[in-house]
Amino acid sequence: MRQISRFASLTVLALLSLACFCVAPCAYIGPVAPFLSTPMPTPAPAVVVETRIPDDTPTPADTPEDSSYGASGLGDSYYPLMGNGGYDVQHYDLAIVVDMEREHIDSVATIDALSTQNLARFNLDLWGFDIESVQVDGQDATFERDQGELSITPADSIPEGEPFTIVIIYSGKPGEGAPPGLLDLLEGWNFYEGGVLVAGEPGGADTWFPVNNHPLDKATYTFRVTVAEPYVVAANGVLEEEIANTDGTRTYVWVMDDPMASYLSTIAISNFERVDSTTKSGIPIRSYLDADIRREVEEPTTRIPEIIDYFETVFGPYPFDECGVVIHELDLGFALENQTLIVMGYQFVNEDVIVHELAHQWFGNSISLKSWQDIWLNEGFATYASTLWIEHTQGAQAAQAYMDMSYEYFKEIPEHAMVIIGDPGPDNLFDWAVYERGAFTLHALRLTVGDEAFFQILRTYADRYHDDNAGIVDFIALAEEISGQELDDLFQAWLYEQALPPMPEQ
Ligand SMILES: [Zn+2]
Repeated sequence: MRQISRFASLTVLALLSLACFCVAPCAYIGPVAPFLSTPMPTPAPAVVVETRIPDDTPTPADTPEDSSYGASGLGDSYYPLMGNGGYDVQHYDLAIVVDMEREHIDSVATIDALSTQNLARFNLDLWGFDIESVQVDGQDATFERDQGELSITPADSIPEGEPFTIVIIYSGKPGEGAPPGLLDLLEGWNFYEGGVLVAGEPGGADTWFPVNNHPLDKATYTFRVTVAEPYVVAANGVLEEEIANTDGTRTYVWVMDDPMASYLSTIAISNFERVDSTTKSGIPIRSYLDADIRREVEEPTTRIPEIIDYFETVFGPYPFDECGVVIHELDLGFALENQTLIVMGYQFVNEDVIVHELAHQWFGNSISLKSWQDIWLNEGFATYASTLWIEHTQGAQAAQAYMDMSYEYFKEIPEHAMVIIGDPGPDNLFDWAVYERGAFTLHALRLTVGDEAFFQILRTYADRYHDDNAGIVDFIALAEEISGQELDDLFQAWLYEQALPPMPEQ
């Protein structure tokens, strides 16, 4: 409660900051009220620990029993079974007929992939559903299931370096049989009264389609979603086609033609109204607002073009074809930066959250994580982008006041309770320290290398790893390359030790 009373005594800036602190900007941080009543981050490790900046050696992937079998995981240090080895998905084509009343889908997933080894067998990730058939290159394949792993044995082995196509016909209620999501919150596909919400971070994509479910395997997507009128469907990318079928349904064809991590794939269904605008650089903005609440939620979304225009001046060109938000008539405890279609609940719509999620389009979406341990590269960057926006709109003094207040708050956290943001562990992936201390880390870098080098680092990072993956080690190397400074000590102290370092002198 100390946090509330302290903030309550501050001014407009403090109110803005209250939103930054207490309204979780993205991902699964949980409902607002519990966070307010628990100001200090939890859970806490019992003893002070230290880790080191990791070397660049990837964690070995799961080793299959036969060398011609693709691995059942990609060796993520937090989620070893996420994703699969032996192939690289190029494109997902997902044709999904949604029955809103029965909360049921009938789907055909057509997956174009490229083998990276000889494959007598390979896995996809999928929970639940009845699978009617699996074909590989037009021939029936056999399959086995073990919880979230779908093992497919094609009629003929696939040689290394060959393109191949998998077609899977399946049906059921999404999410049935899947384990509860992170913090038990809505991970994956959710039916609600009057709508569908899909929020996949970090692993929820496998609750609605067969997928190589790790950011390391980015791919393009086509979504062909059919639903009864008058429901409206939004998804990632560009609405290429809207077909009125003779049976009273409509099929919406959305195409995401930039590579996308599976957790950012989304579909939204409700009685949405589409609202269009454009940025100065000509990026079409199309947002989907629940018709019942449009009047209450629309105002903050009108600043999206202006925010993107600003970010293009500091981060470089907006990385995708279109952008927008979808606002559900749901009281969500989070927002999520789904690629080109930010998902929000109606109580979460404010400028700070929109700024944060828009920044993720560069940091987190265009540049994907190499492993979930690198989450600071998503959340620290998007949180610091909010400070840059304050600096842009309210001036350097306001931004500094915000940073000072935030830093003072963190100074009160006992050292043993501080999450190590360079290696927070899967249970603390979205701990507040990853966000706020993550933003301090960038501010400390800025004060150390100076504004010119700092912004060149951000722009070069956004450009070099565009449509690709990066890890913390890559960012540190790039920062050292551009600044010409040895920065190990700085990143070691901020990312890998619990004690809160002093902010460098201005
Ligand atoms: Zn975020």
